[in-house]
Amino acid sequence: LSFRHFGFDQSIQDGLDSIGFETPTPIQEKIIPLIMQGRDVIGCAQTGTGKTAAYLLPVLHRVITNPVKGINTMIIAPTRELALQIAQQLEGFSYFMNISSLAIYGGTDGIEWEQQKRALTQGVDIVVATPGKLISFLNMDIVPVSNLQHLILDEADRMLDMGFFDDIMRIISYLPENRSTLLFSATMPPRIRELSKLILKHPEEVNI
Ligand code: AMP
Repeated sequence: LSFRHFGFDQSIQDGLDSIGFETPTPIQEKIIPLIMQGRDVIGCAQTGTGKTAAYLLPVLHRVITNPVKGINTMIIAPTRELALQIAQQLEGFSYFMNISSLAIYGGTDGIEWEQQKRALTQGVDIVVATPGKLISFLNMDIVPVSNLQHLILDEADRMLDMGFFDDIMRIISYLPENRSTLLFSATMPPRIRELSKLILKHPEEVNI
């Protein structure tokens, strides 16, 4: 199977060609068609399986083919390191697209805070964020989320281990109900099942 099989927008195919990805990994093969259809998905997958591209590629395709006003996609990750890794992959894949993204995480200084604030109000398509910092911005009422199409929780089990359950629910209270939600987790303890029941609609589950 080749990536061409998914029917991605040409700009995404150009990005894949320039990065040198040819064959989808097993999780990509299973999950990409589901996300293209707009399904909610639970992905049980470790890092190293290609899970990041498994959600970034179809989400980018939908962002391009169905543009909205304000933020289209919000990706939440437990740590600054993971948020930056995701943002980096995102930049690679979207190199040939007219799409803007912003990484928001804690521990930044006043200048970065002002820059992030300005970028948010000027308009970004995709936000990659850690929970705490994102909540500060949501509380300020400067994050245009009313047309949000996709919410992605990456390493959800780690976020719960770090005590982010309430923060995640708080973030979701700001988001429109009519969205796709994708949850990725390396393990599926009962608390992840509970969270999934609360925030996903008729999810398809993919295990790798
Ligand atoms: P991840 O599991 O998302 O952290 O990805 C692990 C690594 O695999 C990253 O460095 C990706 O760039 C790389 N990768 C993901 N999908 C593919 C693919 N289809 N072909 C080659 N490399 C890939």
